[in-house]
Amino acid sequence: MDMQEHAIEFNVVYHINPYPATLRKDLDEIAQVCDGVYIPVTEAMLLEAPNVIRRAVDFAQEVDLVVMFALSGFGNILGGGRHASIFTASHPEYNCITSNGRAIPMSCPNKPAVRSYFQWVVEDLMTKYGPAGLLAYLPSWSLPSHFGSLEPGETPCRCADCKAAYRGWASGDMPDHDTPETASFRAQTMAALLDCFSSAIKSRGDHLIASVCLAPNDSLEFKKALASVRDLDAFGVTAYWRPNSDITQREYISRHVGEAVGIARESGKLAEAWICAFDQDARHESDAAHAARLCADMDVDILSAWSYRDYQSGAPLDKPSAGDPELVWQNLRRAYHELREGKEEEA
Ligand SMILES: [Zn+2]
Repeated sequence: MDMQEHAIEFNVVYHINPYPATLRKDLDEIAQVCDGVYIPVTEAMLLEAPNVIRRAVDFAQEVDLVVMFALSGFGNILGGGRHASIFTASHPEYNCITSNGRAIPMSCPNKPAVRSYFQWVVEDLMTKYGPAGLLAYLPSWSLPSHFGSLEPGETPCRCADCKAAYRGWASGDMPDHDTPETASFRAQTMAALLDCFSSAIKSRGDHLIASVCLAPNDSLEFKKALASVRDLDAFGVTAYWRPNSDITQREYISRHVGEAVGIARESGKLAEAWICAFDQDARHESDAAHAARLCADMDVDILSAWSYRDYQSGAPLDKPSAGDPELVWQNLRRAYHELREGKEEEA
């Protein structure tokens, strides 16, 4: 960060449009109000669309946007959308084993091969595309809901690697049910995976950015463990308020973004607030813009919205209560513009 009082960096998530003319027009428009763009990247995209990704990075860099990749679905450990990991499907031998003894479609973060895979992904993306950095989006020990759910009391993971690591960590055998210690163990070992990810980024250059964002309902212990990863630069939370929440948008953002800022400051990281700008309801087309204004008042360093023109892959587009995506974006765009103008006046 520079010496400016408090220069917030503004970003939006952009799902790549495959048509070059539209892609260029969209990125031009984003560059008018944003410092950077997050491009969601999945395992399937790496196989199916390397040239499309390349073109998006090139066009974005041409208009001086900082390009970050938001990694979704990798190993079915990272979240965001209903993506299925090809790595996990191809390597059932690395799956998590639950306390009921069943394998679930989620690669175990404690397996050396899974950590190596994450390091390989970082190497591959940085070498091929040269983004400014990578975001691990919603890493979690929870089985993604599109793969089913665990039985009551059933928990991941009791594979041989987890049991061995637990023994070394706790000087005792892993209990067959969840305890405060197993929760701590899972927080620490997910942090170890994030450490592999972040140090692989930094090994390619100190200026490259390693980021993570977590969900509001992740435990405080989990958040603090991940935020304290040495090579991590930015810690964020998805403060995705919805109108059906039992608290107001202001309360929700104040609680969750406030907590994230505190954790980030404690760990010496940049604080990032994630704004919900997808799948918005009718008559709520200014919620995302309002969220941006609320977050900007909260000492955050980075403000990022998911996503451009209210889009979320997999969200139902024919929802009767759906809002106007164009209006969502125009309101958000105006909020970004005004907040950035304010920023420049203070400089
Ligand atoms: Zn395991």
